[in-house]
Amino acid sequence: MKYFYWGLFWIAVYLALVISPCLVLFYGQMPGGSGFWWDFSMVLGFAATSMMAIMFFLTARFKRAALPFGVDIIYYFHKQISLLLLLFVVAHPLILVVSEPVVIEMLKPGMLNRYMAAGVVSLIMIIFIMISSLWRKQLNIHYDNWRYVHVFLSASAFILALIHIEGVGNYIATPEKHLAWGAIMGSCLLLIIYVRLIKPVALLKRPYEVVKVTEERGSAYTLDIIPVGHSGIHFMAGQFVWLTMWSMPFSMREHPFSIASSAEQQDGLSFTIKELGDFTSRVKKAPSGLRVYVDGPYGAFSFDRHSAAPGFVFIAGGIGIAPIMCMLRTLADRKDKRRHILFFAGANLDRLTFYEELIELKNKLSLEIVFVLEKPDPDWQGETGFLTGAIFNRYLSVTKHELEYFICGPVPMIQLTEKELHKLGIPLHHLHSELFDFV
Ligand SMILES: Cc1cc2nc3c(=O)[nH]c(=O)nc-3n(C[C@H](O)[C@H](O)[C@H](O)COP(=O)(O)OP(=O)(O)OC[C@H]3O[C@@H](n4cnc5c(N)ncnc54)[C@H](O)[C@@H]3O)c2cc1C
Repeated sequence: MKYFYWGLFWIAVYLALVISPCLVLFYGQMPGGSGFWWDFSMVLGFAATSMMAIMFFLTARFKRAALPFGVDIIYYFHKQISLLLLLFVVAHPLILVVSEPVVIEMLKPGMLNRYMAAGVVSLIMIIFIMISSLWRKQLNIHYDNWRYVHVFLSASAFILALIHIEGVGNYIATPEKHLAWGAIMGSCLLLIIYVRLIKPVALLKRPYEVVKVTEERGSAYTLDIIPVGHSGIHFMAGQFVWLTMWSMPFSMREHPFSIASSAEQQDGLSFTIKELGDFTSRVKKAPSGLRVYVDGPYGAFSFDRHSAAPGFVFIAGGIGIAPIMCMLRTLADRKDKRRHILFFAGANLDRLTFYEELIELKNKLSLEIVFVLEKPDPDWQGETGFLTGAIFNRYLSVTKHELEYFICGPVPMIQLTEKELHKLGIPLHHLHSELFDFV
């Protein structure tokens, strides 16, 4: 419940930050002869600029603000609210052009002054950011390249929007209005200094080093690291961190990974990483003693937020077992006596990461495991195919509505599982999922 009220608080802060610059705009002395549509267009422009400023705060990973929602929800919100921002940004000049045809003259090449040009370029950049983000995979843009371009264009589009507002000047003509916009600009600058300088320096002072890398089933490798010269991070079972390897924290080459080791053994961290692309395929080559940097913990995917539940249902697909393994290991270390159930889907037994350890965990926990295999060997007697409502129904008891569900795996699997569980009457607020895919 505590997280619910914190969530409401942060939503209120968000709305206040978007609306307050617009109120400043209409406070006191106003430019004359503007009319409703003109003013309305200005409100959209100012609201869009505030939203852009807040985008930097949203993605700056402030732990306290992210905790009630989870970082994936923050990124999801960032994505969705960007569509509203795009609507505002496009509507702002369109309304002006339609309501005041004189504006068309101002936009003609010979007539375009610097601050109007800044606004136009900012608009084009925002459209480009949206297209490259919404269709990154379809356009075949590599994640790292996309991220560099995204950060550069977002910062540039924001600065150009501020230049545009400053240049037009009409609505921020009084000293207090100037002060309000100065405060927005100043806080964004401070934020950039914090994210790109202060935070990386803090990470640099708290390094970790690789202890060993172990091969697992399913093209995955477990990376064990220990803190060097400090006590490490304190995390809740199921959370994840951003890991920087083979580069400095100042670079933007960091990757999110769930902690797979027990939250009761916080002297070191282990991650189980499936080979997928450039970075994940290199992990197996990490030598002992290699310096790595850990930014975290983050995420709301943890049973520690639902500790009063009578039991947990874990549903994993492929490498989605990693955060669930962390939770199972933690429950075992805490000698938890409740009854839990794990549904683990994969191609066949040879591909199921942690298979042997999961079988061992049944001796330490009251844990039932249902393996669901897509391409099993001919002699397989268990469940086959994909996870379905019928499979869940066969193993879940009548008290299923009281349990908390933790789902992690490929995005289509998560979506299907949530739908099937909801059809079985499981309340949505009992379903918790971790997406291994932000963009
Ligand atoms: C919260 C979270 C927890 C995760 N936990 C695990 C885990 O425990 N084990 C595991 O094997 N994988 C995990 N992943 C997925 C892992 O982060 C990606 O597979 C990895 O970053 C891919 O990098 P790559 O260079 O090898 O592959 P690429 O081929 O470069 O990328 C493959 C896909 O991974 C995503 N991706 C790539 N780089 C990043 C990045 N820097 N930040 C975010 N997404 C990126 C993109 O969607 C991209 O299309 C997790 C992801 C998230 C979001």
